[in-house]
Amino acid sequence: YESLSVGELAKKLGREPSEIIKKLFMLGVMATINQELDQDAIELICADYGVEVEEEVRIDATDLDTYFEEDENENTADIKERPPVVTIMGHVDHGKTTLLDSIRNTKVTEGEAGGITQHIGAYQVVVQGKKITFLDTPGHAAFTTMRARGAKITDLTILVVAADDGVMPQTIEAINHAKAAEVPIIVAVNKMDKQTANPDRVMQELTEHGLVPEAWGGDTIFVPISALSGEGIDQLLEMILLVSEVGELKANPKRHAIGSVIEAQLDKGRGSVATLLVQNGTLNVGDPIVVGHTYGRVRAMVNDLGRRVKSAGPSTPVEITGLNEVPQAGDRFVVFEDEKTARQVGEARESTAIQEMRTEKQRVTLDNLFEQM
Ligand code: GDP
Ligand code: MG
Repeated sequence: YESLSVGELAKKLGREPSEIIKKLFMLGVMATINQELDQDAIELICADYGVEVEEEVRIDATDLDTYFEEDENENTADIKERPPVVTIMGHVDHGKTTLLDSIRNTKVTEGEAGGITQHIGAYQVVVQGKKITFLDTPGHAAFTTMRARGAKITDLTILVVAADDGVMPQTIEAINHAKAAEVPIIVAVNKMDKQTANPDRVMQELTEHGLVPEAWGGDTIFVPISALSGEGIDQLLEMILLVSEVGELKANPKRHAIGSVIEAQLDKGRGSVATLLVQNGTLNVGDPIVVGHTYGRVRAMVNDLGRRVKSAGPSTPVEITGLNEVPQAGDRFVVFEDEKTARQVGEARESTAIQEMRTEKQRVTLDNLFEQM
């Protein structure tokens, strides 16, 4: 209890208030029946009666961010390297989708013959024995929600620029997003197979925007590729690993999972279906979980290959079912020790969400009123 009055404490302990007041007096505290007692005083009195104060779980239900803060008591031996999470950005038609498909097809299907890959908004590939996670969502959308919610999801961004088209408005937008989020950029100069490809022009134009190639004394990695033919993609993947190593990406697979929603929707048969990116810890089937303003227990998990899995470690995307409502892309999730706590936090968050919606509605109605005047 944060605070109780003398009278309330007496009632809880089944004693007369006068007795409590006397005890307090002995402890050097002058108190009246309505006086508020602090935690220390309450504990002292309770200890005197041989009553243990049950620590009430105080939960900041409005803010899941606190669970993302560094845990100082973490065992450093448990902290391990984790795969990088990569997004692809660039101007429309410069080849983002083709590149994502190309990487996925060349790497995922190896040894996965016959495995139908399922779209869950993110996938993992293995390069030289190391995993890389790609977010399959439009880079801009991912960054916009990330920025709006202050969550960091991506470790690295691939800026795709078509060599036959050069820097375009959305290229600049992408650079600004990545810079604001302090996410390193690797430039993929795409469509190198085209006769009209002019990579020098791309380098020149990007230099004007602060991305200076290593060949010109800068520190930005440029990789010429053809998403269509597959040329240069291996080099691009190697560069991703190189930049990731410099970033020293770490996580603790032994803690409860935390992470973010990549996408979510309502499925007729399965109910709320959400693709989550585990950012730290390990997510397990059966885990009590709060996701944005929704909550539940992880009922089933499916990986990017459409296979059922029981657990998912850091940087792994998985699709889960078992939530009471559909969360939003960019929402954060936190796994709790027990279902009771998850439900408490979940319900509190759900009701704040409803309240917020109500205020929003009221505000809109007022605005409408002003419009009519
Ligand atoms: P997005 O809008 O950035 O996702 O671009 P898309 O991946 O949809 O590609 C737009 C068009 O460019 C499509 O017709 C692709 O086939 C084509 N394209 C993409 N990459 C290459 C490439 O490396 N070479 C050539 N010649 N065409 C490409
Ligand atoms: Mg596309």
